[in-house]
Amino acid sequence: MTTKVKALVLDLDDTLYAEIKYLQSAYHFIAAQISAQPQQLSAKMLAEYYAGENVFENISRVYQLDKAKLLDWYRFHKPDITLFQDVAETLNHLATEYKYAVITDGRSETQRNKLQALGLTDLLSSIVISEEIGSEKPSTANYEKVMRDLQCEQYIYVGDNLKKDFVTAKCLGWTTICLKDQGQNIHKQNFSIAEEYQADHCLNSWQEIRNFLSIDSNKIK
Ligand SMILES: [Mg+2]
Repeated sequence: MTTKVKALVLDLDDTLYAEIKYLQSAYHFIAAQISAQPQQLSAKMLAEYYAGENVFENISRVYQLDKAKLLDWYRFHKPDITLFQDVAETLNHLATEYKYAVITDGRSETQRNKLQALGLTDLLSSIVISEEIGSEKPSTANYEKVMRDLQCEQYIYVGDNLKKDFVTAKCLGWTTICLKDQGQNIHKQNFSIAEEYQADHCLNSWQEIRNFLSIDSNKIK
């Protein structure tokens, strides 16, 4: 059996799946709780979201519902989401070479529900969620937890958010890859940011990431 000395560490939202699909899934769930025509209502909610309206304020007023209830449904429903194209193939293909981990910010239950829905839980050797560890990216603690859990020689981090994903990983000597927004990310990418926040590599798709990771790891930097 080969020893896995390499780690592939992943952000979750808008890196492994489109976060807008989580929002849509939550809207479907909420609409199904309160309307006899959930398809129509969730479509209306999505249109309001894109128009910059306060969707929950509107629902709360029309349906006489507590906003806290809506937020609970949003955060704790079991989401219907799927991985970006080529993620599953890439992770399966590289599983003999790499250990996998996720570093994500958010609530424990919400993020774990997402990992479960995406079928990733069993693949991951370490899961670091901000609510569980008590700090958010770019806190060093979140990255060091992965290093303690994995004990690898080389770390590669894939994320999408230049403000917080890469700066600490770079300080720790990890190789960083930014998955470029294909137009629907919840947090827009701003590449005019200080050099220390920029990823070492910017790639357009998981197919490109897979090709990149498949080359000799000694050449990766
Ligand atoms: Mg992200």
